[in-house]
Amino acid sequence: MVCIKSVDVFSLMSPIGEMVMKICPQGLHSLSQCDNIQDKNFDPQKGQDVFLIGKKSENDRVQKHVEECIEWLNAYFRDVRNVISIHMPDICVFTEIGSFQERVWLSLAKNIGPGKVVSYGELAKMVNSPGASQAVGNAMAANSLQILVPCHRVIRSDGSVGQYAKGKKNSVKNWLLQHEGWNIVNKKVVGLKNI
Ligand SMILES: [Zn+2]
Repeated sequence: MVCIKSVDVFSLMSPIGEMVMKICPQGLHSLSQCDNIQDKNFDPQKGQDVFLIGKKSENDRVQKHVEECIEWLNAYFRDVRNVISIHMPDICVFTEIGSFQERVWLSLAKNIGPGKVVSYGELAKMVNSPGASQAVGNAMAANSLQILVPCHRVIRSDGSVGQYAKGKKNSVKNWLLQHEGWNIVNKKVVGLKNI
């Protein structure tokens, strides 16, 4: 994970509140909700368009990544079923795959689309590391590409939703899973409803 290019920071409005993305000319470095959005003040706004707060980049390549990311997020929030047909924003940190963490992120992003969930243990098996559930949990906690690397789709093997952002944003995980069509009863994912 080496990138020596300069990285610009942008803010977005979204249905799950303000998000911050960091982008270099090669693509996205990170995407996440503002740190100050937590369970106690999470106030989702279904139907809110995703848009850039502040001015555009003067670098055309950076601006192209900004727009692609906004387009992808709008597709995701408007109708999650369509998002698989939208070009996934280019991700800079994935240009040199190597670490366990990056392998887990990539496998999750590639294989567990909307309408799917996976347990920590199953995901460990998918990267040929059976038994490494704890390490998978750590990789999820370190995820810097929220939603794009869908760590909210990783749940406990008993079906319970588990933690999000080290337990500070569990209501966001619930909201995203429900947005993707899951029913959650007594903190457990119990089945897909029609969306
Ligand atoms: Zn970069």
